[in-house]
Amino acid sequence: MHIGQLLTRAAQRHPTNTAWYDGARPVLYTEVELRVTCLADALRQLGLKTGDRVGMMLPNSPQALEVMFATMKAGLVIVPMNIRLHPEEHATILDDAGCSLLIYAAEFTQALASIRDRLPTLKTYVVVGDSPTADKRYEELLAMGSPVLGFQPGPEDLAWLFYTSGTTGKPKGVMLTHRNLLTLVSINLIDLNTPSHQDVLLHALAISFAGGFFMLHHVARAVTHVFLPRFDPATFFQLVEKHKVTTVALVPTMISMLVRSPARTAHNLSSLHTVFYGGAPLHAERLREALEAFGPIFLQSYGLGESPLTLTVLGKDEHTGFRAQSAGRVSTLVSLRIQDDDWNPVSMGLEGEIAVRSDLVMAGYWNRPEQTADVLKDGWFRTGDIGYLDQDGYLFISDRKKDLIKSGGATVSPREVEEVIHLHPAVQEVAVIGVPDETWGEAIKALVVLRPNAVTTEKELIAFCKDRLASFKKPRSVDFVPDLPKSANNKVLRRELRERYWQGRARKV
Ligand code: ATP
Repeated sequence: MHIGQLLTRAAQRHPTNTAWYDGARPVLYTEVELRVTCLADALRQLGLKTGDRVGMMLPNSPQALEVMFATMKAGLVIVPMNIRLHPEEHATILDDAGCSLLIYAAEFTQALASIRDRLPTLKTYVVVGDSPTADKRYEELLAMGSPVLGFQPGPEDLAWLFYTSGTTGKPKGVMLTHRNLLTLVSINLIDLNTPSHQDVLLHALAISFAGGFFMLHHVARAVTHVFLPRFDPATFFQLVEKHKVTTVALVPTMISMLVRSPARTAHNLSSLHTVFYGGAPLHAERLREALEAFGPIFLQSYGLGESPLTLTVLGKDEHTGFRAQSAGRVSTLVSLRIQDDDWNPVSMGLEGEIAVRSDLVMAGYWNRPEQTADVLKDGWFRTGDIGYLDQDGYLFISDRKKDLIKSGGATVSPREVEEVIHLHPAVQEVAVIGVPDETWGEAIKALVVLRPNAVTTEKELIAFCKDRLASFKKPRSVDFVPDLPKSANNKVLRRELRERYWQGRARKV
């Protein structure tokens, strides 16, 4: 049982289905299966052994999908890297993972030249496109392989080393096995969406990140893939119209960008029936705008790299009323509980840390036994997120534990304050953080990005919050900023914002 079977069976069941287009030429699933098997065999011929790590630095593209499947099918471990990271960050990941081979796009040749001599384990460079410094070109490697692969990985073999985006600290390598990923596929098909082979999936989220987790069950159902190498609203809308895209995965920031884009109304988007989102909260006001712009096509899940993508699901028909602010209900193959700091479950309705048990949960952090022991206990994984379950089993996520603000004797959820500020018509984006304060320990600060040409003042925004929140939750100060720092995956980096104010001083969390 291994992840390569998804593609093999899809090709057997739907041999004439188009996996993607190469210009005007349809590339069939049977052809992709053949190429992936040859590539897997070629990787083993290079001397790579089960468990060896293969780095991937490719934008969303057919090759990215082929490389991921071939690597895992060959019993090797794929280490997909976010192409928006800095070369130094790439070097850290490639070194930490001990990759022995890297498959990269020619556009990264120069970036790699600056880090190459610091990566002693990295012996072979394979380029997609042309590069004078590569050892092999991708198509040469493919041509080496035979369509008969004399090897099959097992369910407990490592398949994917997923580097977290480092929202709360340094990126960590999360070890995901074939069993973890097959559980993810099962959950997605049971609880998230069941694509048909007539669906068309647009890869707008990086396949090297959560987009890859969303891609797997679509391959199993032989859908057609369209690739967006770099997200921008205008190209997004063009591709949806041109290819009659039905399904897409996005993070909340991207949804807000699409809603605001003037290009939206110039295109026929009627084919789109499913917009999956997760990875961060979509604030109530921003969700209302999105529903108004696109209709009831939104599907949410909650997950982490350590327990990918689909711990809970909020269905399309559940995006109404107060529940639209929840992350939905627990997935079929997952147990979820709310617990205190000593791993004891707390009563229903009470807030605490979210913990889960499932075959979805990672095998551990790569080379970090202490950090692994800190989060895994008796089969339970603690997520670091704070939330509660209502009487019907809907999960409400307050915040990450590290983001909670301790002000005076009280604990304030930044998300709650952000929700209120988002209601103000002048506000485009906001992040709320705790900053040092001699009297209160931490004081609440809001950093606000205004909509173009909108005007408001610090005093007005604080009064706006005071009218809608308990007084101790209102911000003590508001800074207006041109933008908010975001991770390579478009998540707001509250950690980076805090550093500007704490400057090395220790924060009690
Ligand atoms: P780090 O490196 O600090 O672990 P990260 O941001 O890379 O950071 P990810 O695995 O990418 O970690 O993101 C997981 C986090 O995203 C969750 O812990 C949760 O805080 C947030 N998240 C994911 N889905 C949702 C959702 N549907 N609603 C609210 N928050 C969510």
